[in-house]
Amino acid sequence: MAAERGAGTTALDRLRTHYDNVDMTCPECGYEDTDGSWRSEMSGNRVDYQHLCPSCGAIRRRSIRLD
Ligand SMILES: [Zn+2]
Repeated sequence: MAAERGAGTTALDRLRTHYDNVDMTCPECGYEDTDGSWRSEMSGNRVDYQHLCPSCGAIRRRSIRLD
């Protein structure tokens, strides 16, 4: 196996970091969930993200393909 750039950092880690730092504001009520995070789940070659707004309970979902 060839070593890749950024050893120790996977594509998933980078995506997770991206979502932890961006888009934490609920579009439904405008609450900024600064302590929250997007939960990520691997699903085949896809990552499903889910964020639950602690203020109004709105659930946002996103999927990103890893190909
Ligand atoms: Zn909300």
